Amino acid sequence: MTEAATITTSFPEADIALLTFDMPDKGANVLSRAVMQELSQRLDELEKRTDLAGLVIVSNKPGIFIAGADISEFVASLEIAAEETATMCRFGQSLFQRLSSMNFPTVAAINGICVGGGAELAVWCDRRIMTTHAKTEIGFPEVKLGIFPGWGGTARLPRLVGLSNAVEMITSGESLNAEDAYKMGLAEDIVAEDDLQAAAIRMIREEQETGAYLKDRTQRALPIEMNPTELGFLGATASAYIQSQTKGQYPAPLAALEVLLGGSMESVDAALEMEAIGMSQLFGTPVNAALFNVFFLTDRNKKDVGITSNGVKPRKIERTSVIGAGIMGCGIAAANLKRGVPVCLSDAAEAALQRGVRLVIDEVAYDKQTKQKNADRAIEYSSQLNATTSDSEIAQSDLVIEAVVETLELKKRIYSRLEPQLNENAILASNTSTLPITQLAADLKRPEQFIGIHFFNPVRKMKLVEVIRGEKTSDETVATAVGYAKRLGKFPIVVNDGPGFLVNRLLFPYMNEAMALLQEGVEIARIDKAAKRFGMPMGPITLYDMVGIDTSFYAGRTMYDAFPDRTIASPILPALVKAGRLGQKSGKGFFNYENKKRRAQPDPDVQQYIQPYLKPTGEEISDAQISDRLFLPMLLEATRVIEANIVRNVRDIDLGLIFGLGFPPYKGGLMFWADTVGVANLREKLKPFAGLGARFESTALLDEMAQGNKKFYQM
Ligand code: NAD
Repeated sequence: MTEAATITTSFPEADIALLTFDMPDKGANVLSRAVMQELSQRLDELEKRTDLAGLVIVSNKPGIFIAGADISEFVASLEIAAEETATMCRFGQSLFQRLSSMNFPTVAAINGICVGGGAELAVWCDRRIMTTHAKTEIGFPEVKLGIFPGWGGTARLPRLVGLSNAVEMITSGESLNAEDAYKMGLAEDIVAEDDLQAAAIRMIREEQETGAYLKDRTQRALPIEMNPTELGFLGATASAYIQSQTKGQYPAPLAALEVLLGGSMESVDAALEMEAIGMSQLFGTPVNAALFNVFFLTDRNKKDVGITSNGVKPRKIERTSVIGAGIMGCGIAAANLKRGVPVCLSDAAEAALQRGVRLVIDEVAYDKQTKQKNADRAIEYSSQLNATTSDSEIAQSDLVIEAVVETLELKKRIYSRLEPQLNENAILASNTSTLPITQLAADLKRPEQFIGIHFFNPVRKMKLVEVIRGEKTSDETVATAVGYAKRLGKFPIVVNDGPGFLVNRLLFPYMNEAMALLQEGVEIARIDKAAKRFGMPMGPITLYDMVGIDTSFYAGRTMYDAFPDRTIASPILPALVKAGRLGQKSGKGFFNYENKKRRAQPDPDVQQYIQPYLKPTGEEISDAQISDRLFLPMLLEATRVIEANIVRNVRDIDLGLIFGLGFPPYKGGLMFWADTVGVANLREKLKPFAGLGARFESTALLDEMAQGNKKFYQM
């Protein structure tokens, strides 16, 4: 039996061919090898026809044209030789190139997402029409996976929209909506969804009349005309910008730039060959493999419903309430409004509530494009936000998220007041960062409907949400919280209750080690630099200042109570708190922020709070050792988290750290990185630190894995 076809050929008019992509049993069309072969066959059939006026390519999937190549096939080929990669590119290039050399004009009729390989297919058509559908976009996100377009995108795009636009699109990996694509000349028309096919046919008729597409074909085979000064300027500015953004850790955008610039001065065929060779040097590199992993982590998360039991359905969340209009409460309220969930915001302090409403409206009314507040949006969203102190209004909600100050007794008092008033199906959740969910639920009548929904700060930016299961939390409550977090556009990971849950528990040993290093006399700058060199967005000392030294100190106490054997209660933090140096928020912490731009400046004064506690070891420590000292405790804690059954899958650790802490995506995640280094090597790396005690001791899990020479990703 042959596989069901993805591409069907039909003829809406006698001389118009229509290729419709509709991959069976899939939500999206992807360009697998089989689909590429199928396209090749369909084009073979059409090429034989002499009676055709044109070809239109469409998709039958709602909201998606073509989502790109089949990444799982790429991953299975990561080990192939460079020459094979180049051959893979040449196959795609020559297939798509046929779309601009048929005996008739070709039109990509794009309704929905058109990215990666799908965008390459579209640009090789003679013309593109996009719809006004909210999801319609076109883009080349390949650099985000550590590669660049390799099926002719780098050669063709600059010939359609100019080199400068192509450089921006391909090296940023950002998509354009229909309007911006039209302005750039990437789409020739924008139409309503139901006019798409007719508009494409009209376009073909026009092209046949004017023959414009033939002139374009000739032109687009040539080098791009650009004077050398302009070219040099574009190269220099783009390269400087990319280096500032990637910090040398992501090679793909610079490699793409090189191919784009080099290819622009050559014929399209020579440009295509440069692309194939360039791609063969990027494909399969460690960064590429790591970024593919991140892609799979997010993809897996999109499909994960948070529970394994069948037949349990998440409840619908139509209205939410947020208690506590502080930093987090406001962020959560705004996230709800942005996704169309009406929200009640409440606070015990009238002034805090008023300030909160302003903050929320300011956030939702902000228009990214104009970089200004949009009054219409403010009015529209205001109608969905109810600032209230009335429990009876809050009681109408399907979900109540508490985000008041971090005090167990206060939180519990609020629950016992609210619970009897809520609908019997309503879910009560806490945004606590440290308090045990089981303990918070202890006095509730319906502990199965209580859960932790831990957002990260700033909510607007951070994609991660920890969904924390208390001992009695039901599957239905978990599935509802997961579904709700996804509706807000987040990546929810379900974790079991325990000190620091997942992310803070793994962050803590790293932060704690930074204090240990400081006490040994390692300079602040060296510690931060080692972490940044590893790929963290900022060093741990800077992070202390950002989180707040008081907050870190109190959170640290919780961890110390839980894990005294491997925690150093550093006296430096309380000394700073006592001196009022609380970090960024108070103008001074480890750094000084009392300058116009409130940027971190080194502050020699801070030494008076460090000096009294110095315990120099008398031994030199290398930069590599500093890095090991910071990241090995994090990894060891991760193995303990696995042992304690806190996470459902090791991949959740990686997703959590990348999207909750900024762990470098180009390392693929903590456990992915550990697998790359290898368990045996990790154990070797631990040896020099054996004298430092329990926090550097190997764990039972690590020992077991070393014996079997296993990988975390095989667990
Ligand atoms: P915050 O101090 O900014 O805001 C707390 C708000 O709660 C204040 O406006 C206060 O007036 C209000 N409040 C106090 N008692 C109240 C009561 N009885 N009823 C209603 N409102 C009351 O605090 P935050 O930083 O937004 O933190 C809130 C929660 O979120 C805490 O549990 C914290 O651990 C957690 N959290 C904080 C962060 C962060 O980075 N700030 C990150 C994740 C989670």
